Amino acid sequence: MDIAPNANQPPPFEGTDLLACDPALQVAIERHVPEAMPTLRGWSATLSAPDTYALADAANRNPPTLRTHDRRGERVDEVVFHPAWHALMQFATSAGEHCAPWQAPGPGAQVARAAMYYLHAQVENGTQCPLTMTFASVPVLARHAQMMPDAARWLSCVLTSDYDPRALPVAQKRAALIGMGMTERQGGSDVRANTTRAEPDTGGAYRITGHKWFFSAPQCDAHLVIAQSTEGLGCFLLPRFEPDGRRNAIRINRLKDKLGNRSNASAEVEFERALAWPLGPPGRGIATILEMVQWTRLDCVIGSAGIIRAATTFALHHARHRTTFGRVLIEHPLMASVLADLALESEAALALALHVARGGETEAESTLRAAMRLVTPAAKYWVCKRAIAATAEAMEALGGNGYVEEQPLPRLYREAPVNAIWEGSGNIVCLDVLRAMRREPDAADALRHWLATARGANAHYDRHADSLDATLAARDADEAGARGVAQAIALAVAAAELLRHAPSSVSDAYCASRLAPATCAGAAFGTVRDAGAAAKILSRALPG
Ligand SMILES: Cc1cc2nc3c(=O)[nH]c(=O)nc-3n(C[C@H](O)[C@H](O)[C@H](O)COP(=O)(O)OP(=O)(O)OC[C@H]3O[C@@H](n4cnc5c(N)ncnc54)[C@H](O)[C@@H]3O)c2cc1C
Repeated sequence: MDIAPNANQPPPFEGTDLLACDPALQVAIERHVPEAMPTLRGWSATLSAPDTYALADAANRNPPTLRTHDRRGERVDEVVFHPAWHALMQFATSAGEHCAPWQAPGPGAQVARAAMYYLHAQVENGTQCPLTMTFASVPVLARHAQMMPDAARWLSCVLTSDYDPRALPVAQKRAALIGMGMTERQGGSDVRANTTRAEPDTGGAYRITGHKWFFSAPQCDAHLVIAQSTEGLGCFLLPRFEPDGRRNAIRINRLKDKLGNRSNASAEVEFERALAWPLGPPGRGIATILEMVQWTRLDCVIGSAGIIRAATTFALHHARHRTTFGRVLIEHPLMASVLADLALESEAALALALHVARGGETEAESTLRAAMRLVTPAAKYWVCKRAIAATAEAMEALGGNGYVEEQPLPRLYREAPVNAIWEGSGNIVCLDVLRAMRREPDAADALRHWLATARGANAHYDRHADSLDATLAARDADEAGARGVAQAIALAVAAAELLRHAPSSVSDAYCASRLAPATCAGAAFGTVRDAGAAAKILSRALPG
């Protein structure tokens, strides 16, 4: 064989600085939170290093294992992780991915942290599960933890840029992670069907008996769980250890063998009168934990936007270096159309993710904040769904190489669906959009008002905004049409953001391909037929 071993094979993408190659992200950071740029540059440099990709690969090829007993036969219920997992967790916690906006709140703090999460999602995803749950638990702990002993200790251990994986009572730890346990075997979406019981014990504590069918990151120092008490469903903080140093009665039955998200441990657990502390008003457990869920849903959107971005850049990089039929792939008009379409999806997903992140800041405009009740579940539905389609399309752009495990695409492809399933599966979040539309007229009015301010720049957008305005004003839609409403909201908000802030080559192509009556948003990629427009979109998506 006299074919050079690297003949027509692209060089590795790993090592390309993820922030430096992303003009849309850079511009958004400069607009919202320029002071975060140096930190984000450092974070991007860490993530973009080939060694970090190697850690991500190792953490996923060597998934965690369960160790139920120690050598003396005592139950320990511990999860053993590959060192690569710990290294990645150390990086992310020292960057403050799990706590930065709560440590130093202020304008742009959520956007800066969203950028951090978005970059991380492009390299490894399993580690983001305990990071998002810890991040999302803080508002609930800050609001409701006063009744707990050691409340200040818990908060200080979460609000620290440190990582301490040791299995110890919180009093002996430098840092803590928090998880969430709602889903039971008989039903996850319908948490009212939960059977796990909470019985009052001494000193304001409760004892929890029952199970959780999905309990991710069981190594966390505590989980927020939902259980039935005499007052109805309550929310409780279930620590890993009792204050006297004994392990709490949380038995890990097994770890799930998952399609993706393999570096992360997701367990089935049982509680045998496990100690827990009530959080929030008795019987208001769903409302209490939903505050946490709002933030994890935000991270599903950001994480999925990161997955779409990673898939798109890998595809673009490949197409710039691979030749077929005498031409570099990217120069074939049909491939350029597909890639440009992926790039549009990617920039729109980022715009929507940062929009939702900004809406979570107390300093954001009141209309933006009010509209979040509708926009967050709509974005969660749409961006997570699009990540599944985008990873499949990007994989195909790499041809056979895309299907091979040495490439990052298979892992992204397996990862993508989980964001659509957890924290409210597609139908559940779409029904949540309808519920918010009906019950929270201020949110619907705020969204209508905000969308109206982007009118006048694009006829497709104006028509779409008119039609959505009528739907929102009517405050009613049938359940079977809920996905249509959620999609219309997500597309409208993304388009409005692009019309305001992206070059017209991007915003016009997005509106033409997603909002024009003759198009079918959500169909296969490959709608950017104008070669000039495609070239502009692609040079913005991955300069050089
Ligand atoms: C990897 C992984 C990790 C997880 N980690 C955790 C965790 O740490 N903590 C935790 O609490 N949970 C966790 N989950 C569970 C997850 O949140 C649930 O699986 C999810 O909420 C769906 O619940 P379910 O599996 O019981 O499905 P079901 O509730 O049975 O729903 C099945 C399907 O029916 C749809 N559906 C349900 N009701 C309706 C309706 N009224 N109308 C229309 N459609 C409907 C849903 O959208 C879904 O598509 C995890 C799941 C996975 C895959």
